[in-house]
Amino acid sequence: MANGSDVPNNRAMIAGAALIGIAALAILIGERAAPLRRPSRPRTRRTVTNIALGALSMATVSLIESPMTRPLARRAEKAGTGLTQYLPAPGWMRDIAAVLLMDYTVYLWHVATHKVPLLWRFHLVHHDDLDLDASTAIRFHFVDMAISAPYRAAQVALLGVSPRALDIWQSWFFFSVLFHHSNLALPVRAERWLARLITTPRMHGIHHSAVKAETDSNWSSGLALWDHLHGTFRLDVPQDDIVIGVPAYRDPDELGLRDSLALPFVAQRDAWAISDRRAAGEAAEAACQSKDTAKRR
Ligand SMILES: [Zn+2]
Repeated sequence: MANGSDVPNNRAMIAGAALIGIAALAILIGERAAPLRRPSRPRTRRTVTNIALGALSMATVSLIESPMTRPLARRAEKAGTGLTQYLPAPGWMRDIAAVLLMDYTVYLWHVATHKVPLLWRFHLVHHDDLDLDASTAIRFHFVDMAISAPYRAAQVALLGVSPRALDIWQSWFFFSVLFHHSNLALPVRAERWLARLITTPRMHGIHHSAVKAETDSNWSSGLALWDHLHGTFRLDVPQDDIVIGVPAYRDPDELGLRDSLALPFVAQRDAWAISDRRAAGEAAEAACQSKDTAKRR
């Protein structure tokens, strides 16, 4: 039953959701008006695939992840259990600590999704997109979401994340993921400054490069602090030089919805066999040209 304190809470939630909606709209308009990288393939087909994969992923989060994390967050706060709940500090400080630690442990999970072969099979579906824009932010295999749900539950329980901290982190994470995947060209100097604080589109563009040494950097998904601390921060690759994607998976006809859903369950190619810039660029060019020629015939 609703009580008095729920009313301001609900208002804050609606205001927060409206703010996120406006920010998301600004990102979508911004990346069209001021694109950072030139798209290598037609946009419509990719976008439809990404939205379909995104819908399945969101359904998985609401069916599997949220029913686990919500009760755990309520219990952590009520019982005072989990790391941040033991801090001798006011609630709002514990919430800030919880949001920061959620952000950091997502960094660690992201590294694991690249380094652990079973996890990479699923994360590959996100990385094999041939261009990078806001639609890539929701391009995930739904099993990727299902596998990360127990990890998310462990984060909430072990860190003692309260329901309020969980709401704040989720809103922040959604905004951040949309922003750093976007193809939004910010002024270089402004982005250099911003990248000291948060993950930016140029940073994440380097992480989506077809050159392995570049992909193995910029793992942060929120604050850039974790990359700075771990020495994995890079902003030294011009976006025009970057070929987006994974070298072994460059055929656009293999990257649609059905093939993407099947990809983790079929024999895997050596994803990074070609991993220097020129070779990746030439392979990308060759894959696109052979397809175009075949279509014209
Ligand atoms: Zn990644």
